[in-house]
Amino acid sequence: MKVKKGDTVLVISGKDRWKKSKILQVFPKENRVMVEGVNLRKKHRKPKNSGEKGQIIKLPGSISISNVKLICSKCGKPTRIGYKIMENKKYRICKKCGQET
Ligand SMILES: [Zn+2]
Repeated sequence: MKVKKGDTVLVISGKDRWKKSKILQVFPKENRVMVEGVNLRKKHRKPKNSGEKGQIIKLPGSISISNVKLICSKCGKPTRIGYKIMENKKYRICKKCGQET
C-alpha cells in the first residue's frame, strides 16, 4: 500500500476526477481507499422524535486505489512514489522532488 490515512490525493478517474482531498481510510485487502468528499452516497436517516424531519446525510464511498495519485507533501505535485531504505527504515520518496513524503 503506497498511500496511507491522512495523505492528500488527487482523484484521476470517475465523477470526482481532479478533486484533491484527504484519505480517510485505507482498505489494503480490497486495494481501495475512502477519500473525503469523494464518491458520496446519500443515506437517509430516520427522525429520532416524531416532530423531527428525516435527514439525508452524505457519506463517502470507497474508490479503487488506482484512481488516486498521491500529492507530495513537500512539492505539492501529484507524483509517483519510490522507496529508500536507510538504516533499516523505509522512507517514502517523491519521484518528482526526491524528498521524503
Ligand atoms: Zn515532491
